[in-house]
Amino acid sequence: MNYVDRTLKQLIEKNPGESEFHQAATEILTSLTPVIEAHPEYEKAALLERFVEPERTVLFRVPWVDDKGVVHVNKGYRVQFNSAIGPYKGGLRFHPTVNLSVIKFLGLEQILKNSLTGLPIGGGKGGSDFDPKGKSDNEVMRFCQSFMTELYRHIGEDTDVPAGDIGVGGREIGYLFGQYKRIRDAHVGVLTGRGLSYGGSLIRTEATGYGLIYITARALKDRGESLKGKTVVISGSGNVAIYACQKAQSLGAKVVSMSDSDGYIYDKNGIRLDIVKQIKEVRRGRIKEYADEVKGSEYHEGCKGVWTIACDAAFPCATQNEIDEESAKILVKNGVKCVGEGANMPSTLAAIEVFQKAGVLFLPAKAANAGGVATSALEMAQSSGRLFWSAEKVDETLKGIMESIYENVDAAAKRYRLDGNYVAGANIAGFEKVADAMMAQGIV
Ligand code: NDP
Repeated sequence: MNYVDRTLKQLIEKNPGESEFHQAATEILTSLTPVIEAHPEYEKAALLERFVEPERTVLFRVPWVDDKGVVHVNKGYRVQFNSAIGPYKGGLRFHPTVNLSVIKFLGLEQILKNSLTGLPIGGGKGGSDFDPKGKSDNEVMRFCQSFMTELYRHIGEDTDVPAGDIGVGGREIGYLFGQYKRIRDAHVGVLTGRGLSYGGSLIRTEATGYGLIYITARALKDRGESLKGKTVVISGSGNVAIYACQKAQSLGAKVVSMSDSDGYIYDKNGIRLDIVKQIKEVRRGRIKEYADEVKGSEYHEGCKGVWTIACDAAFPCATQNEIDEESAKILVKNGVKCVGEGANMPSTLAAIEVFQKAGVLFLPAKAANAGGVATSALEMAQSSGRLFWSAEKVDETLKGIMESIYENVDAAAKRYRLDGNYVAGANIAGFEKVADAMMAQGIV
């Protein structure tokens, strides 16, 4: 058995039941095989065993009291996975499906994604099984304050800088930051995604969705194509989905659907994003309200149906494993030419295989959605320099970063004669820098 397979076998034995973590590690390590074979010194240094084992994992209790006086207890997590190239960096996810396996898969992915940005940020991820949906602002605030009352001792602007993710948007970051500042008496860039009035960066809100479309446009350009006139399907209607839709529309694409965890809307005339924003950002409502407001649009229960809509490009922007093999086959049958992952690990391993076999341009999450964390790193730079950049400057820098991610990923794939395989290209390009830094720093 080779080194990669042995490491994977051990990982599965040592971390039983962590299926999402197994899935991400399998995808990553398998595609790194040619790199590992080219570097026998890695095995001697147990580099892979160290790479897949978080440097530190913090698990904690989060007690809070709801508006009726009932006490609740949630689980809190922070996995500080790898700090070889910079302070741990990665979002916090508040969603009932959060468990250690989910946080570890996200953290492992984050190491390589952050490396791909070319900026000095390590990998981490955290969150809770708390569900902000249906909670009052006061309940969310009390939860965030309790969460930070434990988390503050493990993070810092040079140690670990969390950000948002599913269920953690501007409101939650505000409450978390307020509590950190109160406990530490320090107004520092310890969280990114902050509001503009207290140290946030312009374009951070838009960054992941914009970045997804920038990298897609760059990859299409290589093929003599563009998004202009293309029919696009987007899943989700949260932060990533909304700004992917906005940028795709501005480049002339026709976005015909969006979704949430209950169902999806189809609007053959093209989604009215102003209405989606009203529903999701202002009213915190459900996507089905769109069909009540826009004549000629349809609402369908269930999330999977969104992938049965014929399209040229699909952007999964909701959650992990939302495109399975069956959905991938339907997309291919209906003529999809390009899939860009806005969400983390939205395609199963079998779905990725379907896309690759069919010659679909497939842009994996760690490259395609790196715009969010890249802009978070720009926010960190602004915080430590006590500066505030213009929207144009941040947006231009983001676009440049996304284009060079594509170029690096493409070059890495070609270096190993895996032309067009961006799953391998992204893993290899991200890993090379981290491996180099880990080797240079000794056995730590
Ligand atoms: P939001 O919470 O803003 O939105 C998430 C969207 O996905 C909502 O429409 C939500 O619907 C839907 N969704 C969540 N869970 C499920 C589920 N289990 N099944 C079906 N739909 C679901 O999150 P973001 O937009 O920030 O994040 C979306 C994805 O993008 C995640 O995978 C995240 O890790 C990834 N990502 C986010 C970044 C960021 O900067 N925000 C950066 C990089 C990656 P509902 O409202 O019904 O829950």
